[in-house]
Amino acid sequence: MAKRIGIFGGTFNPIHIGHLRSALEVMESYHLDELRLMPNALPPHRAKPAANALQRLTMVQLAVQDVQGLSVDDLELQRDTPSWTIDTLLVLRQQLSTDDQLLLILGWDAFCGLPTWHRWQEILQHCHLLVLQRPDFDVEAPQTLRDLIAARAVASPQALQGPAGQISFVWQTPLAVSATQIRQRLAQNLSVRFLVPDTVLNYIQTQGLYQS
Ligand code: ATP
Repeated sequence: MAKRIGIFGGTFNPIHIGHLRSALEVMESYHLDELRLMPNALPPHRAKPAANALQRLTMVQLAVQDVQGLSVDDLELQRDTPSWTIDTLLVLRQQLSTDDQLLLILGWDAFCGLPTWHRWQEILQHCHLLVLQRPDFDVEAPQTLRDLIAARAVASPQALQGPAGQISFVWQTPLAVSATQIRQRLAQNLSVRFLVPDTVLNYIQTQGLYQS
């Protein structure tokens, strides 16, 4: 039987409850066989993150270690090239059966930047897109994406057909939390308790991350 696999990429600098609730709710609501959180090595669209790749990976591992169905995939950390999503999808596709359904999960803000991604027009050949609402971002999709949505969107993630090629939207519990906000609070010596799991908070403190 075809499997349903979710891939949730990000800088995770650090991972927070916005990521984690989204991942958990997508996995439960859409009965994924597995959902892999995939920290990116050299984010092509970003300045160098404050925590190094190993620290970001460790925080993701600590966050999901006891959560059934959620796992961490360090595929993008094994390469020393930028984390182009198209390359990642090609590698993942080699690991899967042709009819397995691959769902690339991303927030609305990230989705709006899709036309800037390397070989972005090929991405839907290899996966479906599952777009999370992002209550802390009021971005408008460019016309290219509005056309893409008109052509490829289905009513709900349950309606996604086949291994790849469609787009659906997820109305998970809205959490207006960002890693930027967490880094800023830490730099000001303010608590981030309950915004990140306690295991991640302990790691941030012992490693002295994000202090000004
Ligand atoms: P930063 O503030 O450093 O830009 P971030 O909080 O947006 O970080 P990323 O690691 O860049 O976190 O995000 C990875 C993915 O998770 C992206 O697709 C992003 O849109 C999504 N995401 C991040 N925060 C949330 C949230 N609160 N709700 C839903 N999706 C989110």
